Amino acid sequence: MFRKLATFEEAKQLIWQTLQPKPLGTEQIPLLEAHNRVLAQDATSTLDIPPFSRSTVDGYAVKAQDTFGADENQPVQLKVCGLVSIGEPPMVKVEKGEAAEIVTGAPIPEGADAVVMVEDTQREDMELTVYGSVTQNENVMKKGTDIKQGETVLQAGRVLGSREVGVLAAVGNAQVKVHVAPTAAVLSTGGEVTEPGKPLPSGKIYDINAYSLCTAVWESGGKPIYQGVVPDEKEPLRQALKQALASADMVLTSGGVSVGPKDIIPATVDSLGEPGVFLSGVAVKPGKPTTVALIGEKPVFSFPGHPTSALLNFILLARPIIQVMAGKQPTEMPSISAVADRRMFSAKGRRTFVTVRLVLDTEKGLVAEPVESGASGAITTLAKADGFVEIPANEQFVDAGEKVRVCLFREGT
Ligand code: AMP
Ligand code: MG
Repeated sequence: MFRKLATFEEAKQLIWQTLQPKPLGTEQIPLLEAHNRVLAQDATSTLDIPPFSRSTVDGYAVKAQDTFGADENQPVQLKVCGLVSIGEPPMVKVEKGEAAEIVTGAPIPEGADAVVMVEDTQREDMELTVYGSVTQNENVMKKGTDIKQGETVLQAGRVLGSREVGVLAAVGNAQVKVHVAPTAAVLSTGGEVTEPGKPLPSGKIYDINAYSLCTAVWESGGKPIYQGVVPDEKEPLRQALKQALASADMVLTSGGVSVGPKDIIPATVDSLGEPGVFLSGVAVKPGKPTTVALIGEKPVFSFPGHPTSALLNFILLARPIIQVMAGKQPTEMPSISAVADRRMFSAKGRRTFVTVRLVLDTEKGLVAEPVESGASGAITTLAKADGFVEIPANEQFVDAGEKVRVCLFREGT
């Protein structure tokens, strides 16, 4: 194990080179459980959708030509030849001068090529008066106009949300082949850290990181396994880490990576297998002591305990790895241009991430205001911030009024 503060770029490169993340394989799952999963193969349709030409209104299926010229003053008379029931093959055939009663979604019967809306008709027994003309295919959704047989409806790699699941259902799938979601065991460390839901003795704080990191794992396309809190003691820590490694595809820890006497995470992780810790510290602020290891085939990311630090470094370094393991394209964070509201300083020699809130100013446009946190320990920083501004290690500050790019924590905000 070596100690060297890598630059942010070096750290990212080393992580990708060493971990070489790959998708884990595929599995067939019920469509109803597919939310947020990644499609493993192109989805094609084996049938035309709609599978038959159907009416888009309630009314009468007719031969369009029979209605030509019809208006309020010169209606045409047609004979009602029957009824098309919804969900059934039509039992009627429309001949010249005839109309078949039809509802929205029912199949167009043979002989008809348009539908007159019920509002444009008046019926007396089997006599139909039509007060408006229709053109061919009017009020008809033709077979295969939505999806053609053999058409690719979704491409491999697509993340499944409500719209995608709807499309897969439309072509008749109850199951879907998706990438296996990587599992990440998440544990917090520190004698002061207490699980939410339990009483809070004096001197203790609630565990933020395991919760925020677990949720961030979901957001990245992985499946978190919450492992709770472990004290900063070598043996319990070793046991917890071993169990975490055995139960998941990767491990995420927080706390205990600085240089204090209780900061025994790096050495403990390193003792668990080869090649061990390969990145000890990154020249970034916040998050300098972030440590990354590979134990056998499994990545272990150890973030500092400060909640902002832990989550930000997860987003910057671990999220893209999980995305790739989940079969996704690692996405650049969406970003937006804004104007710095005041001078923002960088930490000497370190890539600095300043969390900012975006405010719309009538004159200046979108303005990036640093979110005052006092220290990176305040979780509220993350709740208040819309994103962050990156200041390169070789720049001292970004000046007030300067144009900055804000990487957004969430799309659309
Ligand atoms: P450490 O990195 O362990 O030195 O912790 C840095 C700071 O973050 C300390 O104030 C810790 O109490 C706090 N901290 C560590 N772990 C957590 C956690 N899981 N949730 C909230 N705060 C934490
Ligand atoms: Mg600690």
